[in-house]
Amino acid sequence: MSLKLYNSLNGKLEEFVPFKKNRVGIYVCGPTVYDWTHVGHARTYVDFDIIIRWLKYRGFSVTYIQNITDVGHLREDTGEDKIGKKSAEEKVHPMMLVEEYMREYFGDMDRLDVMRPDISPRATGHICEIIEAVKKLIEKGYAYEVNGNVFFDVSKFKNYGKLSKINLEEMAAGSRFEVHPDKRNPEDFALWKKAREGDPFRWQSPWGEGFPGWHIECSVMSTKYLGDQVDIHGGARDLKFPHHENEIAQAEAITGKKPFVKYWLHTEFLTINGEKMAKSLGNYVTVRQALEKYDAETLRFFFASTHYRSQIDYSDKNLEQARRSLESLKNSVVLLKKLKPAKEKSKQEGELERDLKKTKEEFEKAMDDDFNTPGALAALFEFSKKLNVFASQNDSINTELKEKILKTFEELGGVLGLKLTEEKKAGGEALEKVIELLIKAREELRKKGDWKASDEIRARLKESGIVINDEKKGTSWKFE
Ligand code: AMP
Ligand code: ZN
Repeated sequence: MSLKLYNSLNGKLEEFVPFKKNRVGIYVCGPTVYDWTHVGHARTYVDFDIIIRWLKYRGFSVTYIQNITDVGHLREDTGEDKIGKKSAEEKVHPMMLVEEYMREYFGDMDRLDVMRPDISPRATGHICEIIEAVKKLIEKGYAYEVNGNVFFDVSKFKNYGKLSKINLEEMAAGSRFEVHPDKRNPEDFALWKKAREGDPFRWQSPWGEGFPGWHIECSVMSTKYLGDQVDIHGGARDLKFPHHENEIAQAEAITGKKPFVKYWLHTEFLTINGEKMAKSLGNYVTVRQALEKYDAETLRFFFASTHYRSQIDYSDKNLEQARRSLESLKNSVVLLKKLKPAKEKSKQEGELERDLKKTKEEFEKAMDDDFNTPGALAALFEFSKKLNVFASQNDSINTELKEKILKTFEELGGVLGLKLTEEKKAGGEALEKVIELLIKAREELRKKGDWKASDEIRARLKESGIVINDEKKGTSWKFE
């Protein structure tokens, strides 16, 4: 089986063949750190975390770069620097603001069990390289300077628009914002911006004091750490244009090598009430707020239950559903663990073993098919149903098979960042003991014919999502 992924550059499902055998260089655009991380950001970074885990599972040696944007990301409408504006509002030095939110960002990602990138380069740490890149673009005739601003001349780059399929005329006609008077063409974009009175960020450059544009930062940092040609570059789909389009133009104009990026991967949005979750729209739920209600695994399960290229809507209903599904998957493992060890292997166990092999193959097939996480989860659920049937009919299991199942669940769950074989965090073993105790007390009540009280316990447990089942061999329970 080979890994196939959907390349946004050509809209095709392509076999993944990196530039260097078995090695993958991946760059994902990082956050602009001036506010709390919200669940929309988390969707993108958890999805890329799963992608990276899968590449590693498939034996690739991965170098993962995710930058931190700490200067140059301007608001589209007013042209103000997002970090500069917030730091002025909060009356703190912009670097203090960056430091604070960068730490919060990493903390949130750690809580979501997102693996840290191998390198987290900050734009402000690469000003020398950025100035060199801008100089080169001017030398090569792709850029021009006017009054301390340097612009990329889009008309000089033949393939401009190849990623977003944007049409320059349409783009000019559709522009809602005032065009900078120094631009040669309305669609040209800034590589270096002249610092104005009061701008908090400024560095000396051949064009006077200024600061870099957001797009050039990513071209420079990705090629610095991954070489002139990068295997995978990603972000959410709003970055396709202009950010990634401009990155291609800059990098290919500087290095002369094509393509700058072999595979472009873009995640779809996380929405809330059907609308993109965004800081600017004020409709966001921070990762912290979400984690007060749901544990990290539930959030990860929620993200994984939808393909990274499909929209996902954040709602209590959907999160509750994710929590219940994850519990039911974990509950099968609890049932498995409860089975006593046995040496023999029955015919039924032989079948279960074959099912396990099939499950693994199906999981792998789904993940190799453009990281189809819902398909991979479906394979696990299919097996968990079989496991539940087995556990309801047997009180022991062949030890070797039990270990095999646990190992497979640990390994495959691990790809999605789920700890399927670990006890539930909320309450964990203690919770199970309390449930068992209630079931025992209920049995006593039933013996005494106190059906009212026994039904009351059953109903109360049901309200908490715990279902009890009276069977011949005794009363069993599971999470709904
Ligand atoms: P920003 O900090 O705004 O630059 O965003 C960091 C990353 O999160 C970028 O790749 C964004 O496109 C992505 N992102 C922001 N909002 C959402 C959302 N609602 N759903 C998915 N990804 C998002
Ligand atoms: Zn970027």
